[in-house]
Amino acid sequence: MTLAELQQREQRWLMQTYKRAPVEFVRGEGAVLWDSEGREYLDFLAGISVCSVGHCHPAVVEAVREQAGRLMHVSNLFYTEPMVRLAERLSRASLGGKVFLANSGTEANECAIKLARKRAHARGVENPEIVSFERDFHGRTYGALSATPKLAEDPALGPMLPGFRSVPFDDPGALRDAVYEETAAVLIEPIQGESGVYPLSEETLLAARQACDESGALLILDEIQAGMGRTGSLWAYEQTPVRPDLLTAAKALGGGLPIGACVAAEALGDVLAPGDHGSTFAGGAVVSAAALAVLELVDDAALLRGVRERGAELREGLLGLDGVVEVRGRGLMLGVGLGDGIDAAAVGADLLGRGLIVNVPEPGTLRLLPPLTVDSDQIGRAIALISESLLSCSGG
Ligand SMILES: *Cc1c(COP(=O)(O)O)cnc(C)c1O
Repeated sequence: MTLAELQQREQRWLMQTYKRAPVEFVRGEGAVLWDSEGREYLDFLAGISVCSVGHCHPAVVEAVREQAGRLMHVSNLFYTEPMVRLAERLSRASLGGKVFLANSGTEANECAIKLARKRAHARGVENPEIVSFERDFHGRTYGALSATPKLAEDPALGPMLPGFRSVPFDDPGALRDAVYEETAAVLIEPIQGESGVYPLSEETLLAARQACDESGALLILDEIQAGMGRTGSLWAYEQTPVRPDLLTAAKALGGGLPIGACVAAEALGDVLAPGDHGSTFAGGAVVSAAALAVLELVDDAALLRGVRERGAELREGLLGLDGVVEVRGRGLMLGVGLGDGIDAAAVGADLLGRGLIVNVPEPGTLRLLPPLTVDSDQIGRAIALISESLLSCSGG
């Protein structure tokens, strides 16, 4: 099927919820993708921070193959070993309490929201509230969507769920004022990803922790994008003085297969009881085996050091380019602020033509999320391509 044919049929048969770039990928290895015409690309998006150990990592491929050939699905009415081992591995590497496994990021947040509401009711709260930041992104189902202020505003999609409130991003005073006895949880991203890579200040994170402690609310950190080694530590919160009560993870956790997880601190492991929550597919044997293989690779001091080192190389290289005014983020989660008058969308499209995949989350910003296994040579090539593209797109 030619690309033109594929585009035509996609338009006819898929609900048009995405704007896709005009390229069909057929193969991937490490940080490299190949399209249907055999052209090679350096992938600095990694499936939106999903393919963090690179495309088709042999250990992940082998784990999937082995498990798929043995047993794929039996439902949560029975025991399987990969699920239990994954929950233990994930919790020991984070908050130490119990885990709910889901199929996506938005579902991981649904579990966190439900748990926080139930916990608030248990301490006598009648109308529990969830507080988030403006421009936060927590997902697309109605609970997670209601906590995603920018998208929740769309009247065509309403009504949203009651019990959600948002405050200006990174404003510790506004956050403190919004949190009171009826607050079930503060649900925030430690680094806003979808809105353009904006890290939360330590001051605001501390204010969130303190406000939660004083009011009895839970602090939920959505590390669906920033977690799993992306910032140079397994979890972004590890680089801060703050520890959340609930942690949500997804994206990179499955190495390309769909999975989400809500990890609780020890004291919160039994808030949800039988019948409160569930999912037919969640914790499936194949995806759990894949996630175990991914965790084994990512929860590794040498890999995480590499993330910090490659991240520093990338940041430094970018800061030296004409047209780059700032580089935000940590590790290999970077937002590149472009100078006034540079059309980031045009740069993104131009880079695709040059064989570098980046994302443009907002006007004026390139978002870079390469695989965590990217090497210095690939970082250097990406910087050179961005430099060429900025020159050509700013009319230089
Ligand atoms: C991607 C993302 C989600 C939603 O995850 P899905 O798997 O697309 O449902 C939620 N929160 C953050 C921070 C994300 O980056």
